[in-house]
Amino acid sequence: MAAPLKTLFLHPPSFEGFDGGAGARYQARREIRSFWYPTWLAQTAALVPGSRLVDAPPAGLTLDDVVPLARDYELAVLHTSAASFAHDVGVAEALKRENARLRIGFVGAHVAVERARALGASPAIEFVAGNEFDFTIQEIAQGRPLAKVAGLSYRVNGHFERTPERAPLENMDALPFVVDVYHRDLVIEQYFIGYLLHPYVSLYTGRGCRSKCTFCLWPQTVGGHRYRTRSVEHVVAEIAQATRHFPEVKEYFFDDDTFTDDLPRAEAIARGLGRLGVTWSCNAKANVPEATLRVLRDNGLRLLLVGYESGSQDILNRVKKGIRLDVARRFTREATALGIKIHGTFIMGLPGETRETIEETIRFARDIDPEAQEQGWLEKTDLVDAGGTQTSVLGYPHLSREEIFASVARFYRQFYFRPRKLFGFVKEMARDFDVCRRRLAEGREFLKFLARRHSSA
Ligand code: SF4
Repeated sequence: MAAPLKTLFLHPPSFEGFDGGAGARYQARREIRSFWYPTWLAQTAALVPGSRLVDAPPAGLTLDDVVPLARDYELAVLHTSAASFAHDVGVAEALKRENARLRIGFVGAHVAVERARALGASPAIEFVAGNEFDFTIQEIAQGRPLAKVAGLSYRVNGHFERTPERAPLENMDALPFVVDVYHRDLVIEQYFIGYLLHPYVSLYTGRGCRSKCTFCLWPQTVGGHRYRTRSVEHVVAEIAQATRHFPEVKEYFFDDDTFTDDLPRAEAIARGLGRLGVTWSCNAKANVPEATLRVLRDNGLRLLLVGYESGSQDILNRVKKGIRLDVARRFTREATALGIKIHGTFIMGLPGETRETIEETIRFARDIDPEAQEQGWLEKTDLVDAGGTQTSVLGYPHLSREEIFASVARFYRQFYFRPRKLFGFVKEMARDFDVCRRRLAEGREFLKFLARRHSSA
């Protein structure tokens, strides 16, 4: 077989402090700077020998830094998102000006659902891949004609063609380890998440989520509603490999939508990780039984990232969260009693939200007391302001978008500025100098965010 095209996988430079989130590109700058790993691009890069992954935002690379790379490659694959799309098109055009022969494709959930529109944005974009793009890109890099590559929309003679859909990947063990690409191309110290130990490494052990939350991007685009998983042995072997690459890593994070969707498997992976002696964390739903929590905790689980979303049962029902508040309360109590930390996320402005339900959510969060973090709600208009900061774009006749976003700042103030919470932070900082430094920097950013909200209120 001929050598693959020389391929560059690029997370383009973007707003200063751009948050490269959820294994992809998050919406915007947020209250505290954080960077997730570019796992999706790394996964595809692992399938294309001789490729290179460049993650510009955490590396602090500007457009001037990345444009010269265009001369060294035959194919560039850019991961984009709704919020960064206009910026990313500008980057693609600059790469094309530098090397007119460079072939450029876009991947990511935003373009996967709006393929023709994405292609129409610029003649610099030759193709746009559908949801699960790993093997789509591999085939293009192998030189296969675009018309023969499933899961693709592409430009030909001034019009657009669309090939048949690509079937979801079933043999997840066919995906090579991403940690080898991280090791080759990334500097792991550049990746921060406030609630994870540093340095951390994150990856997926499966794709898809069985829940049907109406607001959630991931299962409705890239993952689907079946939890397709890698084998326990494959996952444990990758973490073992990671410990060889990165002995300095303090924590591994499993970014699967809901790692606890398959409890026996989660327990089996935990036992494998326990044998490796690593500390780890994962996404979970607020309904994991105590017996499973105990197995996970006994085998290195430190923290669960839990989407509570709302403290109003009515809102949870409307968005089909599939969680009862009493179950969420019990789960939180049991996890906390076992010494498992919980970082909870909430959404302000879900359908049906009123001033009363916002108050219910604030009360619920203070009551169960996980670490809390607001998640913005995405809609069609501007997702970010001129500086790239995430905004609320959803408003209702009875509740304006300004009021919804103001309630986020109020949530933070009422949740974090309590003696118990502040004392918890001080205790954590006193124990570890590294944590102390990070918390102080985050605190400064957080106060700046609150001040900005205050002055624009
Ligand atoms: S449980 Fe989480 S990942 Fe799954 S659909 Fe709901 S919000 Fe999305």
